Formats: sequence, structure tokens, C-alpha cells
Amino acid sequence: MENTGKTAIVTGAGRGIGRAIAVSLCREGYNVVIGYAGNDEAAKETVDLCKQQNNEVQVVTVKGDVSEEETATKLVDAALEINGRVDVLVNNAGITKDTLLARMTADDFDRVIDVNLKGAFLLSQKVTKPMMKQRFGRIISISSVVGVHGNAGQVNYSASKAGLIGMTKSIAKELAARNITANAIAPGMIETDMTGVLSDKVKEEINASIPAKRMGTPEDIANAVLFLSDEKSSYITGQIIGVDGGMGM
Ligand code: NAD
Repeated sequence: MENTGKTAIVTGAGRGIGRAIAVSLCREGYNVVIGYAGNDEAAKETVDLCKQQNNEVQVVTVKGDVSEEETATKLVDAALEINGRVDVLVNNAGITKDTLLARMTADDFDRVIDVNLKGAFLLSQKVTKPMMKQRFGRIISISSVVGVHGNAGQVNYSASKAGLIGMTKSIAKELAARNITANAIAPGMIETDMTGVLSDKVKEEINASIPAKRMGTPEDIANAVLFLSDEKSSYITGQIIGVDGGMGM
């Protein structure tokens, strides 16, 4: 696939779902800015995987905490440096700090909101100007099935993911007339490091409860990102797309 001339930013792309999204976008001819928190080696591995898929595109990395404004500025500047455009933003970086409400500290609540929600706010705000100028943009935030349905032990995380849904709908309303869409993807259980902590027994129980009878793969999420990023998806905005094997029904 040749270079489409489009540029995407993917946060938390050093591993897991973010890595799969970055690799898929490269394969389809997007230049990609890989945002990562701190693991240089993992980020380099993502770059190598991207390059293996497509040597025609540019892939650059930006290290930093998405909850800090400076990181958002660096990510957008890196995208603009490639070819003066930011076509796609994927707000993927996320953390969990799970415990029951009675035990949750205010610090753990704040940290999850800062990374998962404020990080997405800062970046969405900073891509708006270039997207308005080029009269095209796709803002895609990775929410979660628990942002819609809630989950015991995840008060902070589900609040951050529900926050992304409200934010996505508001951004969609503000920017629809500018040909900028904002959508959220709500993954169910996806096989990554985040869910790798679960025991085999818990995973089996989860699989049994999912209508598709399996956990999802990072590629399942990447496919939905590709769909929403496409020019042909211009009339889809403010939507929450469940990619969950039927779990959220
Ligand atoms: P993961 O833990 O493998 O990856 C998360 C990525 O975010 C990592 O690369 C991490 O370094 C990065 N990150 C964390 N804090 C950061 C910060 N402050 N600044 C910059 N980057 C930071 O998890 P994953 O499963 O790949 O999850 C990706 C996204 O999908 C997350 O937003 C997660 O909440 C969401 N999600 C995952 C699942 C699942 O089952 N795995 C389900 C629903 C939603």
C-alpha cells in the first residue's frame, strides 16, 4: 500500500491494542505518530512492526505522559512535521487501578481520570485546529463496555470510560459541520497485558459468558478504527461502537 498522505496519532501504542492500531494504520498507508509512556524498547518494536507492514509510510515516536499538556503538544507537533496534517487521532492510552469503592483512594480515582479522560481531552482539543483547517478529521476514543454498563471494582475506570462517551458526543456535535467526526469504540474483553492478569479460570468463565464464546483480539479493535478513520465513514459521528462479541447487549 502506498503512502496515503494522511497522518494518524495513536496514544499508548507501545503494546496491546494501541500497537495493533498503529500497525494496521501503517499497513493501510497512514503515517503514524506513536505515543508511548516510557518503554523505549516496546515503542521501537511497534515501529519495526509498522515498517514490516509498509515501508512507504513515516513512523515517529513521542514519549510522554498523556495526562500532561506538554505531551499532547509534542504529539501534534510531530504529526504536523510529517506533512502538515493530523487526519486521525486515536485516544487509546489507558490504565486501571481497580478496587472496591470502599477502598478506593482519591489519588487512584484522580490518576485514572487524568490518564484515561483528561489525556483524551487535551489531545482532542489540540488536533481540532489543524483538522478544522484541513476540513477533515477523525477523533476515535477507546472507551469500554464498562463505560456503558459499569463494573464492580472499577468505579474510577468506568467513570473515565463513561466520560469518554459523553465527551465524544459533545465533540461530535461541535465539529460535525466541519467534516470532523468523533466516535468511541467500546471493547469488551480483549487479550492484552491489561487482561493478562486474570487467571485461566476467570478467563474461561468470561469466555462462557460472551455470546461469541471468545475474548477479542487487538486486531478486532484495530479493524473498527480503520473503518471509522475512512473517508467513507463521514456520516457516522457521536457513536459508540461496541466491539465485544455481543457482550454489551
Ligand atoms: P495495555 O495496558 O496493554 O496498554 C495501554 C497502553 O497505554 C500502554 O502502552 C501504556 O504504556 C499506555 N499508557 C498508560 N498510561 C499512560 C500515560 N500516562 N501516558 C501515555 N501512555 C500511557 O492495555 P490495552 O488492553 O492495550 O488497552 C488499550 C485501551 O483499550 C485502554 O484505554 C483500555 O482501557 C481499553 N480497553 C481495553 C480492554 C481490554 O480488554 N484489554 C477492554 C476495554 C477497553
